[in-house]
Amino acid sequence: MLYKRNFYINGQWVAPVTTNDYEVIDPSTEKACAVISFGDQADTDAAVSAAKAAFISWSQTSIESRIEKLEKLLEIYMRRSGEMAEAISLEMGAPIDMSKTQQSGSGSWHIEVFIKALKEFEFEHVLSVDSPETMIIREPIGVCALITPWNWPMNQVALKVIPAIAAGCTMILKPSEVAPLSSMLFAEMMDEAGFSAGVFNLVNGDGFGVGTQLSGHLDVDMVSFTGSTRAGMAISKNAADTIKRVSLELGGKGANLIFEDADEQAVKRGVQRCFNNSGQSCNAPTRMLVHRSKYAQALEIAQQTAEQTKVEAANQEGRHIGPVVSQLQFDKIQGLIKQGIDEGAKLIAGGVGRPEQHKAGYFVRPTVFADVTPEMTISQEEIFGPVLAISAFDTEEEAIQIANDTEYGLTNYIQTQDPARAKRVARQLRSGMVEVNGKPMGAGSPFGGYKQSGNGREGGMWGIEDFLETKAVSNWVV
Ligand code: NAD
Repeated sequence: MLYKRNFYINGQWVAPVTTNDYEVIDPSTEKACAVISFGDQADTDAAVSAAKAAFISWSQTSIESRIEKLEKLLEIYMRRSGEMAEAISLEMGAPIDMSKTQQSGSGSWHIEVFIKALKEFEFEHVLSVDSPETMIIREPIGVCALITPWNWPMNQVALKVIPAIAAGCTMILKPSEVAPLSSMLFAEMMDEAGFSAGVFNLVNGDGFGVGTQLSGHLDVDMVSFTGSTRAGMAISKNAADTIKRVSLELGGKGANLIFEDADEQAVKRGVQRCFNNSGQSCNAPTRMLVHRSKYAQALEIAQQTAEQTKVEAANQEGRHIGPVVSQLQFDKIQGLIKQGIDEGAKLIAGGVGRPEQHKAGYFVRPTVFADVTPEMTISQEEIFGPVLAISAFDTEEEAIQIANDTEYGLTNYIQTQDPARAKRVARQLRSGMVEVNGKPMGAGSPFGGYKQSGNGREGGMWGIEDFLETKAVSNWVV
């Protein structure tokens, strides 16, 4: 058992003012693997006050010195990436090989990409050729509360901490209470990298406690939040009284449009993508819309792919999927699978209950539903498990209409060999991202959603911009 009750405040690991233990559960065994403590108002206040004091000098540091510190951090992160992969695998159940490459790997990748963006970022420029004496200055917004989820822990932490640092902000990270171990390891790395006391602070807690204390805090200038739409709404309301900036990265219900001229691997790739990380990705393609001429064939491939997907413990090597994160998520997913059956969708793979070989652990059967109609709950609700909903369409217009018929708008997917169609459809999809034919977005692309998927843009230049204020100064005579 790991005992990790302390918080990182003002450059020190400090004990909570009042101990309030919380067990971190290993999802593969359902057994406690660590004990943390939740903070209370006094801990939150101490962290905010450290960040406020540190802002005065950190906000004035040179870009070169920030780059230097981030490069040091990257070096430390690379050296300890094996430990990071193990922490993530233990706390949220990502299979160890996937945790090394994708989960832990996403952290170092973002640090690298942000260093590059910071080197190119223009913090000052004149307004225009007509107004050369009006200077536009981009400045750090101030003290930031960074609230992150458990599903891609280091991806989310790096997408917030690194641009906040790059912008010159100071911060309090409140990681998910379900998966706090990776963030605590990350705090050790920040400490070793030598950021001045108070620039980066970490307090553990849940949404009702530390999360709410941060979003309502008078001395917090911005909340950057990734998580559920439900929590995003609560945070926005609580932040309104102090007019904070609130940047939200919320849920998704991505559609994967498979046209009649899609490449041969499109369906298999789509199913695997949906099941990656046990379906616990906000940008997962969880609704597969298939042109009717390819529908029967697609169902066959989807069924086979699901049946070939192995579900094993997180500490086992290999390319299987792991358990889902918690009892709460397991129960929610089971309920939604049952609801899919009850509402008349056709179950073609998986179903309720654990895969046979597992008697314990939050393991879910890779599940595929066919003949799903837009009004069904499984077509509208984010399931956050390895569950795919497939339906047929007849025309391009209909496919676009079904894809957009959701309150979310994070990522949609297009599979076609016709570049003109890909562009035409991409323009009409109401989402912050559209991935075509499985080709990943370039490094530094903006990540974020339309509609109830949020309002922020993380990654690259956009990620840094999220943490900046804009100031205009007249009579800037050189
Ligand atoms: P969650 O909303 O339950 O929790 C996320 C974080 O918010 C946690 O740290 C939690 O303690 C905190 N929190 C919860 N309620 C709060 C409140 N009222 N005030 C302040 N903080 C609060 O989400 P989760 O279950 O950890 O993560 C899964 C969700 O995250 C999914 O909906 C998923 O789609 C979303 N997500 C979105 C993105 C994106 O970039 N759009 C990325 C990853 C995950």
